[in-house]
Amino acid sequence: MIAPAIDREFLFQTLADLIRINSVNPTLVPGGVGEREISEYVANLLDGLGLIVKKLEPEPGRISVLGTLPGTGGGRSLMLNAHYDTVGVEGMHDPFSAAVREGKIFGRGSFDMKGSLAAQIAAVKALRDSGIHPRGDVVIAAVADEEYGSLGTMSVIEAVNTDAAIVTEPTAVQICLAHKGYLWIEVETKGRAAHGSRFEQGLDANMRMGRFLAALDKLEQDLRARRPHPLVGPPSLHAAMLHGGDGLSTYAASCKLQIERRTVPGETERQAVGEIQAIVDSLRAADATFHAEVRPFFVRDPFEVFRDAAIVKTLARASTAVLGREPNYMGDTPWMDAALLQAAGIETVVMGPAGGGAHAAVEWVEMESVAQMAAILARTAIEYCA
Ligand SMILES: [Zn+2]
Repeated sequence: MIAPAIDREFLFQTLADLIRINSVNPTLVPGGVGEREISEYVANLLDGLGLIVKKLEPEPGRISVLGTLPGTGGGRSLMLNAHYDTVGVEGMHDPFSAAVREGKIFGRGSFDMKGSLAAQIAAVKALRDSGIHPRGDVVIAAVADEEYGSLGTMSVIEAVNTDAAIVTEPTAVQICLAHKGYLWIEVETKGRAAHGSRFEQGLDANMRMGRFLAALDKLEQDLRARRPHPLVGPPSLHAAMLHGGDGLSTYAASCKLQIERRTVPGETERQAVGEIQAIVDSLRAADATFHAEVRPFFVRDPFEVFRDAAIVKTLARASTAVLGREPNYMGDTPWMDAALLQAAGIETVVMGPAGGGAHAAVEWVEMESVAQMAAILARTAIEYCA
């Protein structure tokens, strides 16, 4: 294969420009400026590279950009997916500086994940510059709102369907094959309100929640003792928020607990909710005055792709060629857009640059790893879409 050359000057200029544009997620951080300005920058840049550009705006200002390098026909298509919204900048000194020191470029979003987006764009530019014309389409998806509700990737799935996708979340240039999912569940114990002096009339919902919590604590220990998933470890849960009662001299009529349950590949929502329901059922069997409702209200599935999937094998060959060694494989704990793409029938894998400080006060990306990712993505696109 002809190794396409990465235009490093273009790559790092693009990265610095992206960091300098404030794109704090406005749903996550009230007052955040959102994706309008950065979408214009990316759309112009992709248009200048000769891509077919489309903007998606499922909610006002929450704009994602698709740029397609059309194939000559008959090849497999590939999506390179990066979010360009960021978390907030509170506590950061000069969050949009794009300052360069010792091979690192600093600023909010540099690592999570504007370095990745710059690498994707430079990869497609390398294809253009080298005059290589794959048969399949190569699509750049620069998406909004990953840090909150994934509006961007959900709208991308409706607009385009590729054979495979690489989500370029930072992985320190390792191939990420799995991540955890999560499930939010509300449990409400019911009591009966009564004056605090009238014990014979009141039923205490908070005390009943105490029984439930004691049993939940056992389940939590049981989850972590289960055989761990080889890449992401065991499942877990935590009792995140608790609200019960509404007056000191009143028996609590209701107590609500919101639980977060982290799932591993192979687990289902039904199974995880069933374990919570079983606790309620056994407490009720022990005491007929125990009443509780279990209400799951949000789910994000776990993600897993196998090492022999076509996109993983192609990405591994490209990584070996660029790095001069076999790549490492990993799993990660936070949820990513990868699960949505995979669930839409797009074979998906995750790989991105090295750096640190995601969601922290000092964030940076390693510039050399961004250049490596650009070269890896270019090679992968050439081979996969050939
Ligand atoms: Zn991210």
